[in-house]
Amino acid sequence: MYISTRGNITPQTSAQAIASGMVSQGGLFVAQDLPLINWQEYMDWDYSKIALSIMNSYLNDLPQEVLENAVKVYQDGRFDSDNPAPLVQVGDCGLLELWHGPTAAFKDMALQVLPYLLTSSLKTLDMNADVLILTATSGDTGKAALEGFKDVPGTKMVVFYPEGGVSPVQERQMITTGGGNTYISAVQGNFDECQTAVKDVFSSEDLRKKLAAKNMVFSSANSINWGRLLPQIVYYFWAYLQAIRQGKTVTGEPINIVVPTGNFGNILAAYYAKMMGLPIGKLICASNKNNVLADFFQSGIYDTKRSFFLTSSPSMDILLSSNFERFLFEASGRDATKITSWYNDLTRTGRFQVDEQTLDRCKENMFAGWADENEVMDTIQKTFKEYNYLVDPHTAVGMKVYQDYKQKSGDDKYTIIASTASPFKFANSVLSALDKDKYSDYDSWEALNTLSRITGWEIPLGLRNLKDKPSQEVSRVKPEGIASYLTSQFVK
Ligand SMILES: *Cc1c(COP(=O)(O)O)cnc(C)c1O
Repeated sequence: MYISTRGNITPQTSAQAIASGMVSQGGLFVAQDLPLINWQEYMDWDYSKIALSIMNSYLNDLPQEVLENAVKVYQDGRFDSDNPAPLVQVGDCGLLELWHGPTAAFKDMALQVLPYLLTSSLKTLDMNADVLILTATSGDTGKAALEGFKDVPGTKMVVFYPEGGVSPVQERQMITTGGGNTYISAVQGNFDECQTAVKDVFSSEDLRKKLAAKNMVFSSANSINWGRLLPQIVYYFWAYLQAIRQGKTVTGEPINIVVPTGNFGNILAAYYAKMMGLPIGKLICASNKNNVLADFFQSGIYDTKRSFFLTSSPSMDILLSSNFERFLFEASGRDATKITSWYNDLTRTGRFQVDEQTLDRCKENMFAGWADENEVMDTIQKTFKEYNYLVDPHTAVGMKVYQDYKQKSGDDKYTIIASTASPFKFANSVLSALDKDKYSDYDSWEALNTLSRITGWEIPLGLRNLKDKPSQEVSRVKPEGIASYLTSQFVK
């Protein structure tokens, strides 16, 4: 069963947690008990079989056959290698490449599975309505969600992105998705305005009623949904097993895990894996110049009232890491009263401070650091020079923070860094890291081809021929026009 971080609901089933996404009175769903996993028996299993076993330990109210179908996504050709998450050695650490899915970023690992879990949860709850999924995106989530939900029966997917606020590659990726149930809308405003407007629509009783009359309900595909976190736990077990097979560590020996962090979903999944019995030493939380989390680990103060920076790792340009609430819930000893009071402070004043004991427990499990833009560019360049291996800016943040950690702590345990995007997805930034003057005026398409030429790597399938693919219609709306756009599109 699932409880709320703020103690404001009676325990719910996994179907209820996944169908609702977040607790409507505020708070996030967390599993009442975390199962202990006997991972030693996974040694010779393939990825899908491990995923099935781990998901089974949490989702006992969903039909077995749904889960069996869900985990097939990792082996049915949607991922560009037989191993959906290979561990490769680069210098003194392992990189877990999480970007072999259809959109070339790690979000595919969960968003390919979520449609199965979400539609099955609704069915289990006897809600036979069609589900209308709304997602605001600054680039990566939108495309991964579109790919996941494309042509899934009983679902319609609408993505809202800020007009002019996503890269040309990301925009082309989204509008060339196809599928009879996907809708794309450019919002005339920035990302915050776009996201706030979509949130407002969620709480519109009027629209909810109109949709209900057409037998439709709202849902969301964003990263606080338990159905997105759970599939992410799997690849940390997979990483550890690969490290053993490659002789980098021995059974039972702890390793460190580094995660470039934005909304705190990916690193939270690693923390849950540790609680479920995976031998993990330190978790290393790496931020870019938007270093709210690194400051928190110094001071115990989470302060969102600060300047916001646009960086070369845009998926980590976040001041409010939604999933951090779940980590604090554990670090405080599952104290829902404390969580409620901290998050009320946050809403009221933009900041909160935790007690010393909670901060100590945070630090026991995690080290947090950050990298600035120059360090990120340097890391990309050096890694390519020394190891002939190219990382994207998000992964480079992780590598730099790991180097700092290793130097400061002297901890030389085997370490795995989550590599969250293909360098091709951020081709212009990566090229300018390699040679700023030479490539500065390349457009996105030239940049992709050039990167392929320099590395000898193929452009990922999902980014190939993007320029020539047929594109679908994009409607343009003002933030305040989203509700009437949805009405005209789906209710009439
Ligand atoms: C979403 C994303 C992140 C941040 O992951 P969180 O789970 O939000 O912490 C990091 N890198 C890339 C490439 C992403 O798309």
